[in-house]
Amino acid sequence: MNKNYEVVIGLEVHVQLNTKSKIFCSCPTSFGDEPNTNTCPVCLGLPGALPVMNKEAVKKAVMFGKAVNAKINKISTFERKNYFYPDLPKGYQISQFVVPIVENGEIILDSGKKIGITRAHLEEDAGKNIHEGDVSKVDLNRAGTPLLEIVSEPDMRSSDEAIEYLKKLHAIVRYLGISDANMQEGSFRCDANVSVRPKGQKEFGTRVEIKNLNSFRFIKQAIEYEIERHIEAYEYDEYEDEVVQETRLFDTKSGETKSMRGKEESADYRYFPEPDLLPLEVPDEFFDIEIPELPDEKKKRYMEEFKLKEYDAGVLTAEPALAKFFEEMIELGVEPAAANRWLAIELLGRLNKAGISIENSPVPAKKLALIAIREKEAVISGAGGKKVLDLLMEEDIEVDEAIEKLGLKQVSDESAIEKMVDEVLSANEDKVAEYKAGKEKLFGFFVGQVMKASRGKANPQIVNKILKEKLK
Ligand code: ADP
Ligand code: MG
Ligand code: ZN
Repeated sequence: MNKNYEVVIGLEVHVQLNTKSKIFCSCPTSFGDEPNTNTCPVCLGLPGALPVMNKEAVKKAVMFGKAVNAKINKISTFERKNYFYPDLPKGYQISQFVVPIVENGEIILDSGKKIGITRAHLEEDAGKNIHEGDVSKVDLNRAGTPLLEIVSEPDMRSSDEAIEYLKKLHAIVRYLGISDANMQEGSFRCDANVSVRPKGQKEFGTRVEIKNLNSFRFIKQAIEYEIERHIEAYEYDEYEDEVVQETRLFDTKSGETKSMRGKEESADYRYFPEPDLLPLEVPDEFFDIEIPELPDEKKKRYMEEFKLKEYDAGVLTAEPALAKFFEEMIELGVEPAAANRWLAIELLGRLNKAGISIENSPVPAKKLALIAIREKEAVISGAGGKKVLDLLMEEDIEVDEAIEKLGLKQVSDESAIEKMVDEVLSANEDKVAEYKAGKEKLFGFFVGQVMKASRGKANPQIVNKILKEKLK
């Protein structure tokens, strides 16, 4: 990054709320069904059909507002946002424009910097256009799915800050359980607004809006591409011509952004009040809803209560399913450091390699906890535990069965080990003499010989202890 410029980023995120039915009708919101089967006169936009507000969607918006310390408006309003597109059968989207349900919130980055949330409002999703060769089709199953649009202040100053903000938002939404926030399926979608100004300039530069960003990696790439484009335009004195307020699309193949529509064609939405809905009044009891422990609080607690490092606590609390897995292991009696090692390093490493999410792990918390416990009891070694885990990833068997099957049970019987130690020492009398004369590094040699004699199964702690006694 060129030090003479400053980046300004504001993000708009659309979160699909996971209510069972749509926002203004009782059609199901399920994903992946036969096209146009989850529809009715309301979400098809047929004349005379009337919208009815879904109370669950309101509740979820309120929960979000609480999680980001926002003001929740007792009364908010719905407006029509008019535009024409094949996936929008009514010719308008019902949204909140004048008074949103949630205003003035914030997300706090790890640096302590606050990123303002201007507003979060309820609206309906559009359908989907599907292009196959020169045929285009419209699927209206998604039309009317409840969305919460979360608009940030232009407070971010780098792509890293933007990604941190988004990841925190993503985690909050998942912890609240108000959305599955699956980026590939489009239930957590981000538009990035980016501008660049020369350092010291008061006014913001011209902003562009980048749409169609469905992974954190692409968002970062798109923002960085755009920053470079703006800086280059300044440097070549082409800023006025090259950077215009417009919507751009990110091409994931080329890694470039391309103009989609310019300012002249930018939509005029002719907002006006939705006459078929009364202003939205949030029920009093919603103001008292308890929200679950949020990721940042949980992370802090893990550091204090379990003495975990900040990095480890961050990994374990990044996803609610992961934190739940960890807490189950702790409840089963595994020590925090061991639970962290077995879960965050061993299991997650294997799951990532196999492309499996923690929710679908073939090894449940109960089994992983037992591996850790058997290691602690010295029934198996750490290396043995890893082999057990490998087998459990492939086969649905019990931990103790796997230990048997792999022949990993350690020998902890002291008299058996003592016998092996005696054999090794009498077979190496010359080395014993050298050791006693002061060549102490030979200790490792004796340990190795005993381990070899036991074919790796002797409990190393006990081998060490007995060897020390005998060589005194
Ligand atoms: P629109 O509805 O046209 O998208 P908004 O006023 O709602 O416009 O702003 C959308 C987003 O753009 C907000 O997140 C805001 O923070 C951000 N934004 C506004 N001005 C700038 C700017 N100059 N540079 C970067 N982001 C900006
Ligand atoms: Mg916008
Ligand atoms: Zn419907």
